[in-house]
Amino acid sequence: MLEAFEHASILVLGSGTSTGVPMVGCRCKVCTSRDRRDKRLRPSVLLRLGDKRVLIDSGPDFRYQALHYGIERLDAVLYTHAHADHILGLDDLRPLSFSHREQKMPLYADNTTAEVLERVFSYTFSADATYPTRARVELKRLDGPVGVAGVTFTPVPLMHGRLQVTGYRFGNAAYLTDMSSIPEASFALLDGVEVVVLDALRPQPHPTHANIADALLWAEKIGARCSWFTHMSHEVMHAETDPQLPESIRLAYDGLRVPIEL
Ligand SMILES: [Zn+2]
Ligand SMILES: [Zn+2]
Ligand SMILES: [Zn+2]
Repeated sequence: MLEAFEHASILVLGSGTSTGVPMVGCRCKVCTSRDRRDKRLRPSVLLRLGDKRVLIDSGPDFRYQALHYGIERLDAVLYTHAHADHILGLDDLRPLSFSHREQKMPLYADNTTAEVLERVFSYTFSADATYPTRARVELKRLDGPVGVAGVTFTPVPLMHGRLQVTGYRFGNAAYLTDMSSIPEASFALLDGVEVVVLDALRPQPHPTHANIADALLWAEKIGARCSWFTHMSHEVMHAETDPQLPESIRLAYDGLRVPIEL
């Protein structure tokens, strides 16, 4: 392990589903809970890799997350897929992108995701865009494992309903969100993973997300030393659900830091 990576960790910036928790207009017991672990911003993690910083997904809460957690630089952003809760903070990358003078800030995305980003943020990406202070970012198409900030990131294909999305394996860790099934071949890419962050939307089944029972089965199959559930809705109350889980499986919460090895 390189010395620069002695301090590597995952910081959970948001552990909530697309609405966030509390959800607008809802007065349920989780949305009105005073437990800070029930306050869930939209899903994203920051990887601290020595002195490098890599973001996975820039959702609608990115600006607040960056201010709250003191994110002052980013070396790259990796995208899982192009749903609003994962991409809508792209424009708030602008202030951090301006310090990337020689080379633009790289954004990694699979082809389907990149096409949506180019369409939604056409004023950023189109060749004839005239927006003068657009983000200094460059889309890079994912096509297999890629070196980012000195670390190899292996895309892990996942199925989110009928949409294929991208999970990421890096070192002894993986971030796998927004999936209703994991193709068998993808489990091989997760061999030896010791820390995994997994989609676990709610107790009830959902057509495009893992529920808690699915996530428990996958956590067991992956066999990580510790598994953390994320992308949770207001149907999950931390203090009720967390104690019911096996010792090695816990609910993530905003602000959680998990050390990893590369
Ligand atoms: Zn999502
Ligand atoms: Zn609610
Ligand atoms: Zn999604």
